[in-house]
Amino acid sequence: MTEKDLKISIAHLYPKLLNLYGDMGNIITLTKRCQWRGISVEIDNIGLGDDIKEHDLYFIGGGQDKQQQEVAEELFSHKDFLHSERDKGAVFLGICGGYQLFGHYYQPFEGDKLKGISLMDAYTVAGKKRFIGNVTIETDFLNPKTLVGFENHSGLTYLENDTKPLGKTVVGNGNNSSDGFEGARYKNVFGTYLHGSLLPKNPHFADLLIELALEKRYGEKIKLEKLNDEFEYNAHKSVTGKAY
Ligand code: GLN
Repeated sequence: MTEKDLKISIAHLYPKLLNLYGDMGNIITLTKRCQWRGISVEIDNIGLGDDIKEHDLYFIGGGQDKQQQEVAEELFSHKDFLHSERDKGAVFLGICGGYQLFGHYYQPFEGDKLKGISLMDAYTVAGKKRFIGNVTIETDFLNPKTLVGFENHSGLTYLENDTKPLGKTVVGNGNNSSDGFEGARYKNVFGTYLHGSLLPKNPHFADLLIELALEKRYGEKIKLEKLNDEFEYNAHKSVTGKAY
């Protein structure tokens, strides 16, 4: 099977509500990196009230507490389906507010606790301080090891059991500014506080997500051909390790 015959389907969950700091740039990156290889991409924008059918990859962006409150109950109504998708190997990427809803709950600084969908063993409690700034983390599963982005959150996220962090925080605060880690991974579910948007400056992570989505769809590992990412990695290196 050549890359020209391949396809992936992506569900963009609640883009009208959770798209803080242009997180939909992650969808653009995934789409372009597939199209540059001749892989066709189907994007399904999911709004409030929409049903969610089977996809290879699910993306949800970040948002203010208010938008998270608008989405949380509806997202929870799809919990069982999304768990079955996770267990079939579907890929999930949640950014900040979307990441927080992947856990068991998000307790905003004011107001009621928001139920999460428990795709991963994590929970989030809003603190008094807002963490804003560039972030560099070091992973043990990517090459290069680093991921770069920026954070703007007051939520403090704690991981439990088999849910592991994405990486060690080199610059920035990460999950809770105390345990030294950022983001989370359980099976093919990935969550992170890294806005930016994340994937344009982290093409190695974008390609990993595409390969995992293709594996879920076709039932076999498919290694993507390399692209000329000189421009992307120059952007990556220009911020790696820098707070400002
Ligand atoms: N409202 C959440 C917080 O402040 C998430 C913010 C975001 O998505 N950037 O922690």
